[in-house]
Amino acid sequence: MKPFQYLRPKTVQEAVTMATDNPEAQYIAGGTNLVDLMKRGIASPSKLIDINHLPLKKIEHRYDRLRIGALVLNSDLAQHKAVLTRQPLLAQALLAGASGQLRNMATVGGNLLQRTRCSYFYDLALPCNKRKPGAGCGAEEGINRTHAIFFAGNGFGGIEKSSCIAVHPSDMCVALTALETTVVINGPDGERRVMMKDFHRLSTQQPELDTNLGPGELVTAIEVVDNAFAKHSHYLKVRDRASYAFALVSVAAALQMDGGRIWDARMALGGVAHKPWRYWSIDLMLRGQVPSEKLFREVAEHEMEGAKATAQNAFKIKLASNAMVAALKTAAGIS
Ligand SMILES: Cc1cc2nc3c(=O)[nH]c(=O)nc-3n(C[C@H](O)[C@H](O)[C@H](O)COP(=O)(O)OP(=O)(O)OC[C@H]3O[C@@H](n4cnc5c(N)ncnc54)[C@H](O)[C@@H]3O)c2cc1C
Repeated sequence: MKPFQYLRPKTVQEAVTMATDNPEAQYIAGGTNLVDLMKRGIASPSKLIDINHLPLKKIEHRYDRLRIGALVLNSDLAQHKAVLTRQPLLAQALLAGASGQLRNMATVGGNLLQRTRCSYFYDLALPCNKRKPGAGCGAEEGINRTHAIFFAGNGFGGIEKSSCIAVHPSDMCVALTALETTVVINGPDGERRVMMKDFHRLSTQQPELDTNLGPGELVTAIEVVDNAFAKHSHYLKVRDRASYAFALVSVAAALQMDGGRIWDARMALGGVAHKPWRYWSIDLMLRGQVPSEKLFREVAEHEMEGAKATAQNAFKIKLASNAMVAALKTAAGIS
């Protein structure tokens, strides 16, 4: 491992200043992802800024929203009363991720910023545009069973124009995308807010960048506005093993229901794209409708129209479609 300077700022401003003056600096929180990357030589920061002493560990309900500090542990968040009562979809997604031990170390900020699990990214002997831009993508013609089926979107490119076909690994971020969460960021120019849909990037350009965070910027909190989805939401994760495995496909489904009809709906998918994949027309397709398997099947098939398989992952298209139907049925409470 390359030698590095280790710093422990006490304020957000101090942390941002330390990071801004050195492009090779990196923040470390729980270290469950970054330390692995450093040991393998994939990340080699010359300055490691330990943010664990910053005052970013609170979960509080203020006015119309839940504000969650970037250093809140995944395990604490999943058990917090306000999350369980107001945003159970988020708790379900957190508990579907990693293992108990990892969740006790992993933070909200680190989960948002965790890197892909594509094996070409982790193997220094193989080409990877994300690790080394311009090197090529080993997965495109290689082992791509777990890779993306959605790319830059209709009219904006596709698998041919994506320089990286890896998927975003987080479960938490799929629920946060469905819940239209805001990410609060502090940087050299002060505070700014970004919607989850705009936080992570697609890979048409600069595949080395997973997010739209600027140099030195620090995630300080996330905010989830109150909603009426608590009674009818479900996170479904399909994976090769029951625990300690990333999603092949996951679905965060949230419905607002009254009088046997759906009045609002949100859905996001994980394991299918370079970022959590939000399905935008679901609200229009479901609003005012009586829930049924037939309706959910139509919605799922509509969603899958834009999917494009690689040589080894055509199964994901059917899997994602079935997972959407199952998650929507559970959320709606129909068998
Ligand atoms: C074996 C294993 C299985 C796993 N399975 C799953 C799974 O099934 N689902 C899932 O979702 N996750 C899974 N994970 C990933 C785990 O959730 C992440 O490793 C964890 O969330 C990262 O959080 P951390 O605080 O440890 O981040 P760190 O490792 O400390 O940091 C990760 C990255 O985030 C940056 N960072 C951290 N905090 C901030 C901040 N506030 N602002 C800006 N940048 C920041 C760091 O610079 C670094 O680049 C798994 C991990 C392992 C090791």
